Amino acid sequence: MSENCIFCKIANGEVPSKTIYEDEDFRVILDIEPASKGHALILPKKHYTNIYELEEETASKVFVLTKKMAEKITKALKCDGFNILQNNGEVAGQSVFHFHIHLIPRYKDDEVGLNMESKESPNYDLEEVKEAIKNISIC
Ligand code: AMP
Ligand code: ZN
Repeated sequence: MSENCIFCKIANGEVPSKTIYEDEDFRVILDIEPASKGHALILPKKHYTNIYELEEETASKVFVLTKKMAEKITKALKCDGFNILQNNGEVAGQSVFHFHIHLIPRYKDDEVGLNMESKESPNYDLEEVKEAIKNISIC
């Protein structure tokens, strides 16, 4: 646990939350400022600042749980679609620095603004970017 981390306190039950699921490793809560009805957050009980700090075992577990929670929420709320979102770093919109996954149910005509602006022609060389990334070994 990290001192003064609100999500550590919530995940470990020190601060109350609207919990919709809990197991040994995770707590899933409703977001207090939801983007849509049923917007929830998966919080690991252990403190990781962001995805880069996550252990592989936790990373595997969290995505399995993401799938299960999406199914559970969809069944309960009969939403029409689903966004999974996970922010790392202030520049990417992270505001709470304890790793979490956003589960965002979507409804027809809900006008939730998560759409990415795409650039028709990038101002950098795609081939160079492909090579730069491909050349970094990951295992
Ligand atoms: P992010 O911007 O990705 O770090 O997301 C942080 C999310 O946590 C936001 O959607 C907030 O509304 C939500 N949030 C912040 N504090 C709480 C809290 N005490 N309980 C539930 N959700 C919270
Ligand atoms: Zn924490």
